[in-house]
Parts: sequence; structure tokens; C-alpha cells
Amino acid sequence: MTTEIKRPIHKMGPIQSTLFGIAFLTMCAFGTSITATLLSDWKMEKAIPVEIKREEKILKITHYGNPRIIGRFFDLSDNTVAAYIPEINAVTSGPLLTFMSDSKIIESVDHELGHFYSEQFRIKHNIPKINTKNKYARFALEGIAGYFEHKTNNLPDTYTGNSQNLLDVNNIYQLYDGSYHFVKPILDADINKGILYLLKNIPTENDYKNQEQYQKKALESIVNKQ
Ligand SMILES: [Zn+2]
Repeated sequence: MTTEIKRPIHKMGPIQSTLFGIAFLTMCAFGTSITATLLSDWKMEKAIPVEIKREEKILKITHYGNPRIIGRFFDLSDNTVAAYIPEINAVTSGPLLTFMSDSKIIESVDHELGHFYSEQFRIKHNIPKINTKNKYARFALEGIAGYFEHKTNNLPDTYTGNSQNLLDVNNIYQLYDGSYHFVKPILDADINKGILYLLKNIPTENDYKNQEQYQKKALESIVNKQ
């Protein structure tokens, strides 16, 4: 008979038990990350075809096929919910997606599909690549994506901010709610002509500060192209 010599945890010295604790917590975090990754990828894969059909019906558009869906391993400190990666035409989920309600997952998927649509639209119309490091370009793109998210889910326009304040891309309210508020009248007039105008006339700082003037010009251009 062999004798197993087990060393109970409480017999460990302080250094060993600290190391054991760290190893245990790392394994738990690792396991949670893997589980969350698999779950969020699965939820996104399930939602994308359904949302493509809903957007086509509600927004009266035709999507350019399907985006690729890629899984990515993430750490739990990553606060991304979902993202569209134009370089590889792929939608990817982030860790927090797993923990969101079904309606919030759908809104996020609709938003990313808006980025997918506007990027494919840009390519089809031979519009030069958009520099997303330019915050006003980012503002226009987030507005288009926000339009897909809001309209498909019947979400209200609640923005009451003041565009005289400089655009701060770290300000979620300005970047997301503000950009939807900005593009809404333009895309309401005609979604495809509106996207075409926005992508060809990326707003400047001056346009941001004089949004009504930009919207008026955009609407005139849309009406003239009817
Ligand atoms: Zn976005």
C-alpha cells in the first residue's frame, strides 16, 4: 500500500498559500474568460442573420451579404461589447456582451451592422477610405451606426446637448447619442442618399458647431438628387 502525502492548504506557508491563491484566481478568471468568449460569440452568431433581415425590412435597405464573425479571446478588463473591424470586414463580440440582456445584445448587433453597411456602401461607391482617427469622421460613422441601432429598435432620440462644446470622443453621450441626433434628419429623408452625403462630406469642426446648417445643406442635396 502506498501512502499519499497530501499537504492540506492550511498547512501551507504564507508564501505558498499566496501563490496558490493567485494561481487559483488566475484559473478562475481564465475559465470565466473562455466561457464568456464562447457564449458571446455564440450569442452574436445567432443574432446577426436575424438582425440583418430585420434591418433590411425596417430600414428598407439591402445588406451587402454577411460580415465575417470572428471570436477573439479577451481579458475581463476589456470593456468592449462588440466591434466592427473594417480591415477584415468582421464583427466581433467583447466580454461584456455575455452579461447583457437580450435586448441590449440586439441593439449592439444592430449598431455594428450599421458600421458594416456603411463601410461596404463606401467601397461600392468608390468613396475614399475614412480616417477614423479624425474625431468628426468618427462622429459621422457612429451616427450612421446609431441610426441602424435606434431605428431598428424604435429607440427615441433623447439628445439635448450643446454642440457648441467641443466634441470629446470619450464622452459617450456626445459621441453616440449626439451623433444619432445629428444624422437622424438626414437619413430620415433618404437613408442611402444620406449615407452617401455624410461619407462624401465628412463633417468638420465648423460643421459640428453648426449642425443645423450642415443638415440643411445635406437635405438640399438629397432633394436635388430625387
Ligand atoms: Zn460604433
